[in-house]
Amino acid sequence: MVRATSPQGGFDARPYDGRVVEGVEALLFLTGLDPGARDIGAEAAGRLWDTAVRHLALGRDAGQVVSDPGAPDERWVYKRERCRRCGAAVRTWTLASRTAYACPADQHLHAI
Ligand SMILES: [Zn+2]
Repeated sequence: MVRATSPQGGFDARPYDGRVVEGVEALLFLTGLDPGARDIGAEAAGRLWDTAVRHLALGRDAGQVVSDPGAPDERWVYKRERCRRCGAAVRTWTLASRTAYACPADQHLHAI
């Protein structure tokens, strides 16, 4: 199992600015992980790593967070009321003094 959590549980977003948090949330969405997930398996960690490598390169080249190369200015759930992929109401909550965003249909608390 892999831990990338804060003492309160969930992914630790404390030392980062808003753009980094937005990027992390995009990576979690693309990997199908809920930001509140406490432990993820090796397979999910590998998917998260592969997605991070691919999308960080896209973001570096574009000069912004890119969660969808076909629509680089769009976000899947970040600051949205409805998931852009499935239309479900985006779930929001406070995580490390910031608003966290997740799709209840596309992102799971447990590794998939
Ligand atoms: Zn969704």
